[in-house]
Amino acid sequence: MAFSALATGELHVISGCMASGKSLHLISLIEKYQNHSKVGVYSNNSYIESRYNNLRIPCRQISSVREVDLEQFEVYAFDEAQFFDEEIVKVCTELVRRGKKVYVSGLDLDYQSIPFYGIATLMAFATTVTKLQAECTICGKPASRSFRKTQNKQRMLSGKENYMPLCLSCYNQKQITQ
Ligand SMILES: [Zn+2]
Repeated sequence: MAFSALATGELHVISGCMASGKSLHLISLIEKYQNHSKVGVYSNNSYIESRYNNLRIPCRQISSVREVDLEQFEVYAFDEAQFFDEEIVKVCTELVRRGKKVYVSGLDLDYQSIPFYGIATLMAFATTVTKLQAECTICGKPASRSFRKTQNKQRMLSGKENYMPLCLSCYNQKQITQ
């Protein structure tokens, strides 16, 4: 899985907690590519498409990264990448090996502060990592944790309304008192 010594590709990972602006940052990074036909944007989350309307880059909704055409584009972007399984690591490293520019945005930690394997591993392989923070809902300091407001124990639960971004201190406090 290691990169080839001849690789000229790039892997940029944007991570952080809920509401930290990851997708907006991803969009700002791919906006610079004028020829949109060479840019492939992927997500497996249907409601995300509206974010890309202004860009006029179609966001391809896929259920598995195995559906990604590895040759079609020069630039690849994966939004909400925590929703893809571990195969995303293989796909992204293979794209980079083929000289592609790859942008990945996604949550680094789940609501229990357990890393998402795919994102965490891609952060290790990345040429650049941007870790964004939100604003703590309780104290207003920079937030790095996604606190879940509901009792749902499913690991994958989308929807901003189910979470509040918290700083580490407030997150730890809430975990104890919940
Ligand atoms: Zn706080």
